[in-house]
Amino acid sequence: MHGNLKLNSPLLDKSRQIIGKWYAQGDQANGVDRKVVYHFQPGSIHELLHAFGFHVVFPEMNSIHSAVKKLSIEYIHHGDTLGFDQDICGYVRNDMGLMGGPAKGKSPFGTIPPPDLLVLNQTGCFTYAKWFESLARMYGCPLVMLDIPYTRNEELNASDKKYIAGQIEDLIKVLEEVSGKKFDIDILIESLGHTRDAIDLYLKLLDIPKARPTPVDGYFEITSFMGPITVSRGTVDCVDYYRETIEGIEKRASEGRSPFGDENFRLVFDGPPPWPSLKEFREMFHKHGAVGVAGTYSRVTCDYEGMETDASQPFDFLVDLASRSYFNWNIEKRRNFIHKLAKEFDADGIVFHSVKSCKPYSIGMLDSRNYFASQTSIPVLFLDSDIADPRFFSNSQIRERVDTFMESVASRNLRMKSTG
Ligand code: SF4
Repeated sequence: MHGNLKLNSPLLDKSRQIIGKWYAQGDQANGVDRKVVYHFQPGSIHELLHAFGFHVVFPEMNSIHSAVKKLSIEYIHHGDTLGFDQDICGYVRNDMGLMGGPAKGKSPFGTIPPPDLLVLNQTGCFTYAKWFESLARMYGCPLVMLDIPYTRNEELNASDKKYIAGQIEDLIKVLEEVSGKKFDIDILIESLGHTRDAIDLYLKLLDIPKARPTPVDGYFEITSFMGPITVSRGTVDCVDYYRETIEGIEKRASEGRSPFGDENFRLVFDGPPPWPSLKEFREMFHKHGAVGVAGTYSRVTCDYEGMETDASQPFDFLVDLASRSYFNWNIEKRRNFIHKLAKEFDADGIVFHSVKSCKPYSIGMLDSRNYFASQTSIPVLFLDSDIADPRFFSNSQIRERVDTFMESVASRNLRMKSTG
């Protein structure tokens, strides 16, 4: 039996508890004497912001949760009336509609407090700047920008890193001013210590689907385990969460349990899932016994692989965290990485999910699809829909394309088996 993955496991419940706690902290910060800073997830250095006692809001998280709970269309309509029309990223339209519309930040998943400061970490997405400029106008609060250079080559060079480190030093002065607190490096070091531990565990989690069959879906399931590394990195809760999640998956493997029945096909995914239609999308693959074994999305905030810095070099570590977002990568680096995932996770195919909202993610995806189709023997599927606006998800069309793709992968695998 396939297509029976139920995302209601105790592992997911714990992730929901951590996210729930984070929203509750936001609720308490609202109007009380805890300052609030908004910051983006890719290239986040929220450990530094926490060191000054700020509650950190990630506006994309508001949009993801709205979309998963099928509320995004309502907020998007309110965003439209504020002038954020269809050409703009759905996350922005959703967030502006939630914060600036009748809800005024109150949602069924939590109350989003207004910002005292916007720390714009500019990592490969120009929309970030426009989004925070709009919020700065709406709330009349200060905005500071960290300009993170594009990764032109395989790695950032030394002068780029120095440029980022200089901006972090300047940011500390702003944080002292807005929070009214002096910078205490020991608080930062302690938090970064937890971050390093959580990263090591998270990397271990991402590697589990190398097993055949995999006891965890490396795309659909691991995506739902990303919340803690995103919002609570730097805390003991986050470290405990990944330790317990790995233990839970190892237990599942030792009992021979799989969340999805037989594993017929192993797929690598590029792109985020269509949040408003997540369940439908997942079942389109699972009904064929196709599991995700890896994806770029679980690395989008930061590519932790090969990151050697730790709390003993706090500023170098922050520079790494700020600069290793997938959005900052050039197209060739992205393509090589997808190829590496396909090889290392022994994938039967690659699925590109291009999303209308997110140009920084989708740019070059069609070229990569063409590259794999013409230069490798790995089957590829190209789909497009959206991460926030459900009107761009065509259920029947996507289902048909997934069915056709899975049939072609099945025939190819049979051919390969018969020819040895
Ligand atoms: S365009 Fe993409 S990276 Fe930029 S805000 Fe929208 S979803 Fe985020």
